[in-house]
Amino acid sequence: MAGPPPKPWPTGLSEQCEPLVRRVLAPNPSPYTYTGTQTYVVGAGEAVAVIDPGPAEDDHLDAIVASVGEARIAAIMCTHTHRDHSPAAKPLAQRTGAPVVGCAPLVLDDSGPRADAAFDRYYAPDRVMEDGEAMTGPGWTLTAVHTPGHTSNHLCFALEESGALFTGDHVMAWSTSVVVPPDGDMSAYMQSLEKLYAREDRIYYPAHGPAVDKPRQLVRGMIGHRRQRENQILRLLGEAPSTSAGFVPKMYRGLDERLVGAAEMSVTAHLIDLERRGLVTRSGETWQTI
Ligand SMILES: [Zn+2]
Repeated sequence: MAGPPPKPWPTGLSEQCEPLVRRVLAPNPSPYTYTGTQTYVVGAGEAVAVIDPGPAEDDHLDAIVASVGEARIAAIMCTHTHRDHSPAAKPLAQRTGAPVVGCAPLVLDDSGPRADAAFDRYYAPDRVMEDGEAMTGPGWTLTAVHTPGHTSNHLCFALEESGALFTGDHVMAWSTSVVVPPDGDMSAYMQSLEKLYAREDRIYYPAHGPAVDKPRQLVRGMIGHRRQRENQILRLLGEAPSTSAGFVPKMYRGLDERLVGAAEMSVTAHLIDLERRGLVTRSGETWQTI
């Protein structure tokens, strides 16, 4: 993972990315969010969409409203319900009367809640978008692209008029996506990468970090990176059985200490995927090859 760029960052400013897209950086930088969450305002006419309103912080809400200006917000759209993405949806809806449209609230599983502290439990959309469904406004069309993996409810949004894809946390240039089981699912994540690889998007606007102007090249690299990780796990397991935590120092050299937990989760996500494919098995916390 690359460190963030030197300050000053454009926190609170409305930056024009292209004619139909503006970006507002939220004041929530961290090892997981890079310089912070980027909220996108889409549209240039009397009605716009707001993608990933971000954390419910007054300064950020003010900055979004300032970026929207005289326009009406036709839809507040969330890619997924991690707490750095969706909590501002509700106060922004209350303040502007705009509907919340986009990803589903998190589904609870039979085997127990799939949600953890990282999730926004208060997210309540007015309408959930299905894969391929579109929201339209004057001069813009945003189509939902279901991309589960980072979370089970993750959507990307394709801006049909310009070939841009808002990728949320599914694909980012600064870091690989964190896949935390049980809601995060490596098999689904790999399929969602393949889904984007099959598309012809011109540019990606992730929720964190810089835009991606060679999207397919990046996605191909990410698919290769995950396969490499998987092979590494199988090779290490061939040498000796191990716990998930046991892999981390061997696989992630020089890792920021604050990210060790996330790295362990990512290894676990790979192991669960390999287990489903019949390549590894576990007894208690210890994994081994079959
Ligand atoms: Zn996320």
